[in-house]
Amino acid sequence: MVVIGGGDTGMDCLSSANREGAESVLMLDVYGTVPEGGRYADTPWPQAPRRTETTYALDEGGERRFGTQVTLLEGEGRRLARAHARQVEGSSSRDLQPVPGSEFMEEAELCLVAIGFTHPAHDGLISDLGLDLDARGNVRAKAFATSRDGVYAAGDARVGQSLIVNAIADGRRAARMVDRRLREFAAAPEGAAA
Ligand SMILES: Cc1cc2nc3c(=O)[nH]c(=O)nc-3n(C[C@H](O)[C@H](O)[C@H](O)COP(=O)(O)OP(=O)(O)OC[C@H]3O[C@@H](n4cnc5c(N)ncnc54)[C@H](O)[C@@H]3O)c2cc1C
Repeated sequence: MVVIGGGDTGMDCLSSANREGAESVLMLDVYGTVPEGGRYADTPWPQAPRRTETTYALDEGGERRFGTQVTLLEGEGRRLARAHARQVEGSSSRDLQPVPGSEFMEEAELCLVAIGFTHPAHDGLISDLGLDLDARGNVRAKAFATSRDGVYAAGDARVGQSLIVNAIADGRRAARMVDRRLREFAAAPEGAAA
């Protein structure tokens, strides 16, 4: 099995596959090798490490290969057969350069793609309500109120992919804004616009 992406989600994919009995799991991570000791120059101690040399998932098994970019998933019949990839160099997704002649291929029966939350799905609720989006495709709701009166947003849908603690905090702040609005509404003279 191949996992594309070496972030938290990729790690969850890796460990789930191992725990469910995958014969082998290979994680292809586009970013370069984590420096020895796990410390990048821009995140010295005591800041939280940006990435770590190992993780709970890698401790359980599987292999992570740094600086690798998947270029093609090849099937046979209706099933995945192999993943084609190449080595890349560079420090960010914007300046990655392929290493000439580094192409390789790995057999795979399953590939899980874990290369980043982009934005909430627009089809359905968001498009049905006609909500404005920000430049990253998240729901535009600077002070939690969206472009549609009476509709509020919080959490990943508003700020983009983050952490559970942030989603909880964002939800609480949004609830305060809704509460304030409802109180204003309740205090308004009868017949005033909601
Ligand atoms: C694989 C993975 C691993 C992660 N690991 C961690 C971790 O280890 N630690 C951490 O802190 N964070 C982690 N995160 C991030 C964390 O899960 C999110 O930041 C957090 O869940 C965001 O909370 P939320 O309430 O904004 O959105 P969500 O948790 O996504 O909740 C949105 C909810 O809205 C529901 N919904 C959507 N549309 C509708 C609709 N039309 N009507 C009704 N309901 C609807 C969805 O079904 C969902 O239940 C991980 C994320 C992923 C994907």
